[in-house]
Amino acid sequence: MNTSLFDIQVNGFGGVDFQQPGLTGAELRRAVDALAAHQTLRFFATLITDTTDALCEKFMELERLRAADAVVASALAGYHLEGPWLSPAPGYHGAHEAGLMMAPEIGAFERLQAAAGGNIRLVTLAPELPGSVEFISALVGLGVQVSLGHTQASGAQITAAIEAGARFCTHLGNGVPAELHRHDNVMQRLLAHDDLIAFFIPDGIHLPPGVLKNFFRAKPAGKALFTTDCMAAAGAPPGRYPLGNLWLEIGPDRIVRQPGKPNFAGSALCPDEGVRNIQDWLGLDAATARALFSTAIADIFQVVLPPITETA
Ligand SMILES: [Zn+2]
Repeated sequence: MNTSLFDIQVNGFGGVDFQQPGLTGAELRRAVDALAAHQTLRFFATLITDTTDALCEKFMELERLRAADAVVASALAGYHLEGPWLSPAPGYHGAHEAGLMMAPEIGAFERLQAAAGGNIRLVTLAPELPGSVEFISALVGLGVQVSLGHTQASGAQITAAIEAGARFCTHLGNGVPAELHRHDNVMQRLLAHDDLIAFFIPDGIHLPPGVLKNFFRAKPAGKALFTTDCMAAAGAPPGRYPLGNLWLEIGPDRIVRQPGKPNFAGSALCPDEGVRNIQDWLGLDAATARALFSTAIADIFQVVLPPITETA
C-alpha cells in the first residue's frame, strides 16, 4: 500500500484559493478532498506576501475552519509563509506584490504565528534583507524551518543564512529574472551549497524537463525534493482563478499566467502528476520518485503520513 504524498507548498486546489476572503469551510474541505483524490492526505497551506494584518486575518480564518472539520485539521499539517520578507527587485518578486515587502522583524512573525495557532512550520525569505541572520536564528529557535527564495543574496549572505539555520531553497530555478549573468547568479550560488535541500516544481513549465534533470543531478542524494507550488487551478479545469489579491488565467496548456506579465504565478500541477513526471524525466524508479514527494519531506518536518486507501 502506498503512503500519502506530502506537499509543502499548496496555495489552493480544486478551484479553491486558500487566501480568498470569505473562504468557507465547505470550500476548504472541497480542496482537501480534491488533494486526497490526488493521493495527497497531508500538505502545508501556503500564504503569500500581504500586510501583517491581512495575513493574521487569513491565518485566523483558516484556523477557525480547520478547528471545525477533523479531516481538514489532519490534512492541513501546517503553514508555509512565503513573504513578505522577500526581494522586491524586478524579476525576483514574481507574482508577489513588491510594495508590501519589508525587512523581517520577529515581532511581526510572533503576531503571525499566534494568529496561525503556532502552526507556521516553514518560512521562505530573502536573506539579503537587513536583520535576516538574527531573524533566521530566532525562527529556528522557535522550531520553524527557513527556506531561501525570491532572493538575489550574495554568496556571503547565503552562507550566513545557512550558519543561522536556513536549510532549504524554495522552488529553486524560479523566482528569478528570465535573464541573468551566466555564472554570477543566485541559482548557481544556492546550488553550490550541498547542505541546502532544494525544492523543485516538476511541471515541465517552471523548469523544462532537461533543466530539472541538470538541477537534480547537481544536488547530493536526498537533497533535491519536490513540491507543486500549486494554486486553485490544480485539479480543476482551465479558466480564471484567484491567488490572493490576483486573478490568474490558466489555458489548456496548464500554464498559470498573470495577464500582461511574463512571470509564472504558481502551478496547476497535481502532486501525483508531479511524481509521474519526476519518474519519467529523471529516470527514477516509482518508489524513489514517490519518496521524494512524500516520506523524504515528511521525515524532515516530522509529519506522519497515512497510507493511501483504495478510494483515495
Ligand atoms: Zn514563490
